[in-house]
Amino acid sequence: MKIGFIGLGNMGGPMARNLLAAGHDVTGFDLNRSDIDGLQWAESAREAASDQDVVITMLPNGAILRSVAADIIPVMRQGSALLDCSTVDVDSAKAVAADCQAAGLLALDAPVSGGIGGAEAGTLTFMVGGSDDAFALAKPLFDIMGQKAVHCGESGAGQGAKICNNMILGITMIGTCEAFALAEKLGLDAGKVFDVVSTSSGYSWTTNAYCPVPGVGPVSPADRDYQPGFAAELMLKDLRLAQQAAESANADTPLGQAATNLYETFVEREDGKGRDFSAMLPRFAGRNRQS
Ligand code: NAD
Repeated sequence: MKIGFIGLGNMGGPMARNLLAAGHDVTGFDLNRSDIDGLQWAESAREAASDQDVVITMLPNGAILRSVAADIIPVMRQGSALLDCSTVDVDSAKAVAADCQAAGLLALDAPVSGGIGGAEAGTLTFMVGGSDDAFALAKPLFDIMGQKAVHCGESGAGQGAKICNNMILGITMIGTCEAFALAEKLGLDAGKVFDVVSTSSGYSWTTNAYCPVPGVGPVSPADRDYQPGFAAELMLKDLRLAQQAAESANADTPLGQAATNLYETFVEREDGKGRDFSAMLPRFAGRNRQS
């Protein structure tokens, strides 16, 4: 396929590399030029988007996606697809899809989980919103960049599924860190607590696969002084998107709100920025009970 790729950062760069390695013809653009073997560099987003079968965007947020989409939609070929893999708010995803449809283009919102490691290894999970036709067109590309693509529903459904998943993740990580910090203050051995929790009803991905205690459970960011991994500020971004969606859907999400507040404090007023989101554990361990 002829593919335009806009946003070649930590995630987009390796995703584009995997498409090139699979034999696709990729033209890329980013505000910061980088060298990617085999990629044809365009001088603008418009140039990268012209005359392609699919244009992929992997950008920081919804405002940037909206402005890039407004720029490129007029030059995209009729019947081609805009495949946005960024994590953005549901409203921006729906607005961009509506603009695509009005211009005779297909559109998919397809945010990912799996992080930079997954992007490099081609093992991302895509959560996809959009029409059946658009999903069928993009499926071979999902198969190259990822190991699973779930078609969640109409436009916006991919972003919705992603932020619901990550709201669970943020809340669960906080619960896991609270419990291990409490266990330590009760004088318990963290390895024994892991043995119990990981095989009991408190088990979760955050304990079993990503335990926030150094030296306990499988290797995780806790074992390299909480270098990300999944940075606390990215968790905060996703929790804020979940709260924005809850607001517009009039949904009651008290723990989602509490998790957002905690990560906001951690990232913006404490030392959380640049650390893995599991660094909530030393944060709780270093604090006393609040009245
Ligand atoms: P990044 O900052 O490394 O990459 C974003 C790129 O977009 C940058 O290279 C930037 O120069 C470029 N860009 C910004 N504005 C642009 C414009 N107007 N035109 C062209 N290029 C522009 O971020 P990332 O880690 O690659 O994340 C990209 C998206 O993936 C985000 O939405 C993020 O939330 C999501 N995501 C990231 C991870 C992760 O672990 N890093 C995991 C899942 C999802």
